[in-house]
Amino acid sequence: MIPSQVMSTPTGTPTPAPNPTPKTAPVTMDKLVSLCKRRGFVFPSSEIYGGFNGVWDYGPLGTELRSNLKQAWWRDFVHMREDVVGLDSGILASPRVWEASGHLKNFTDPMVECRSCNARYRADQIDLSKNCANCGKKDWSEIRQFNTMFKTFVGPVEDSASVAYLRPETCQAIFTNFKLVQGAMRKKLPFGIAQIGKAFRNEITTGNFIFRLREFEQMELEYFVRPGEDERAFETWLEHDVNWLVKYGVRREKLHLYEHPDEDRSFYSKRTVDIEYDFPFGRSELWGLANRTDYDLTQHSKSSGEELEYFEEETKEHVVPYVIEPSLGVDRLMLTVMLEAYEEQPDKDGIRTVMHFHPRLAPVKVAVLPLVKKDGALVKKSRQIFDALRGELTVQYDETSTVGRRYRRQDEIGTPWCVTVDGQTLEDNTVTVRDRDSMEQLRFPAESLLDEFQRRLREPWSRP
Ligand code: ATP
Repeated sequence: MIPSQVMSTPTGTPTPAPNPTPKTAPVTMDKLVSLCKRRGFVFPSSEIYGGFNGVWDYGPLGTELRSNLKQAWWRDFVHMREDVVGLDSGILASPRVWEASGHLKNFTDPMVECRSCNARYRADQIDLSKNCANCGKKDWSEIRQFNTMFKTFVGPVEDSASVAYLRPETCQAIFTNFKLVQGAMRKKLPFGIAQIGKAFRNEITTGNFIFRLREFEQMELEYFVRPGEDERAFETWLEHDVNWLVKYGVRREKLHLYEHPDEDRSFYSKRTVDIEYDFPFGRSELWGLANRTDYDLTQHSKSSGEELEYFEEETKEHVVPYVIEPSLGVDRLMLTVMLEAYEEQPDKDGIRTVMHFHPRLAPVKVAVLPLVKKDGALVKKSRQIFDALRGELTVQYDETSTVGRRYRRQDEIGTPWCVTVDGQTLEDNTVTVRDRDSMEQLRFPAESLLDEFQRRLREPWSRP
């Protein structure tokens, strides 16, 4: 295991104090799935046709949340760093990429089939001494390796010469573009190339909502270092990544580091650590960190005939850099962030469900609510405030039902601030700002709202 100091606060990064575990009932997957569907975060794919396994569609609020997660990652992994640049490569690529990287041969999972009911399982995820969970019998087939890359054909003829693959990870194009990016951006070692994009894996079994998908999205960074500097870079990124999760509201005590033993590691990896999270269905990988050595650059170099090296001006040496790779799934991060945010608080009217998203991640930042809908002047003033904020922030306007119900609706989607426009607003141009977490209400001049919210969005935040 990793030494415990890895979990300590890094210098220079403000990290909120560990959050107390909420005293209310723990969130279940059923509750979260139901909220996600009801409030427009996540929908089952092709539901009107009975669904489609391993794919989910993101609704209006899910789309905003994902976009905020990706922006937060890009901000901290690319924009805030002078040593990292971005890339956006194709999902399709020459099949020679996958031959060179070893995916055609090795990107496999062990599959076992129940001979009685034909249900298929990943052999490393079930106990083969037990009976089939589907039919209750015990008649297992031989275990065979199943390649999980999706195959397709490029061009009008479906023959072996036109076979191509949907990328099962985003990083290979970072290796094939290594020289081009390094040359164009004149980067010196150590430096990183980051990419966010879709990846596809024909998983044998899918499930646990958006945890294991066949179509998903990854945020990957390949950090190139001089050989010999790889072990220290690995430690630095591990600490950085754990702290990044905590900064965005994931409780430290729910995160665990799993060091892959030698016999379980991918053949190319010198060291692999999974950052695991305590999901309701068990502790599982959220974020993988691997020391991929110089394996990928060397393979692509051999296979293509192009030198994928770095030239050290100072020493006049050619080096093949080592690569440290933090690889995070957007969908798993979204699931984690939603599970962390969910809270049910008993109150006088029953249960108040509130999503404590970090304000920068919240799909809607501000809701503007006229106290009463029938008052034309209040509605007009509220629309003016709404118009002044939208475009700058994600804002909703809501005038239906009682203000208490409207607060509840916003709490359930995690809107950090509600602006209520009332009679006093028409007299002195002040409004009430209600805070989602503390439920405190303070009055502010309407013209100061945008500055106030932008100031709050820049501040560190910790889950109540
Ligand atoms: P697992 O052991 O869960 O199959 P893995 O070790 O194959 O995962 P990696 O290849 O390390 O996963 O992928 C990096 C990250 O991409 C994972 O940590 C996860 O966040 C995400 N990811 C991988 N496979 C899936 C999937 N099928 N659905 C959703 N996210 C995924």
